[in-house]
Amino acid sequence: MIDFHCHLDLYPDPFAVADEAQARSVGVLSVTTTPSAWPGTSRIAQGRPVIRTALGLHPQLARERIRELSLFDRYLPETRFVGEVGLDGSPGLRSSWNQQVEVFEHVLASCSAAGDKIVSIHSRRAATAVLDRLDQHLGIQRPVLHWFSGTAAELARAMARDCWFSVGPSMLASAKGRAHIRDIPRSRVLLETDGPFTQRLGAPLQPWDVYSALGGVAQLWEMSEREATTIFQNNERLLLA
Ligand code: MN
Repeated sequence: MIDFHCHLDLYPDPFAVADEAQARSVGVLSVTTTPSAWPGTSRIAQGRPVIRTALGLHPQLARERIRELSLFDRYLPETRFVGEVGLDGSPGLRSSWNQQVEVFEHVLASCSAAGDKIVSIHSRRAATAVLDRLDQHLGIQRPVLHWFSGTAAELARAMARDCWFSVGPSMLASAKGRAHIRDIPRSRVLLETDGPFTQRLGAPLQPWDVYSALGGVAQLWEMSEREATTIFQNNERLLLA
């Protein structure tokens, strides 16, 4: 099983979390929030084949880090995985919207030109704006919408664009999230924790907590965890092929 969206570099002891993920054979897509974090974060994956590192520039940091777009382009050839990138339309981030759009459009254009990138995308309160950009960059063939929280109409649009969705405990905890998980085609669902930002009983989620998300999704799908595991493993294989 793979945790498709985890901020490994933001745990107090990333190497310990990475070692335990390796010992448990839990895969991790280790997303970053700034291009300057790339060299240090990719070191966590060294010697731990379960970990794949993604190059990112988080929308919340777009204004402060827009100058790192040149670093983004420099590191992009080193990885097939990109994230966390996207747009955030939350009221507190309205003042950085133009920079967010500039960063996201640059990232999509670079990834589209490079080809074959798997992109983990944040779209809080901005699903329509994200989907508008994805429609302009059809070279992004495997967008993965992480923790999707748009409307049912936006979800339908994302499905028509053949997006993938990484779902985790936070989506399972809300009625809207559960409705989305029921509506997404089973062949396009992946698991995530978004640790360490997400918590359970006051403790940050760890990559192996994808198994609790697996249980929740299996319940919604009215099947056994074993059957759901087969679906997720097939999906992972298809996405990474
Ligand atoms: Mn995240």
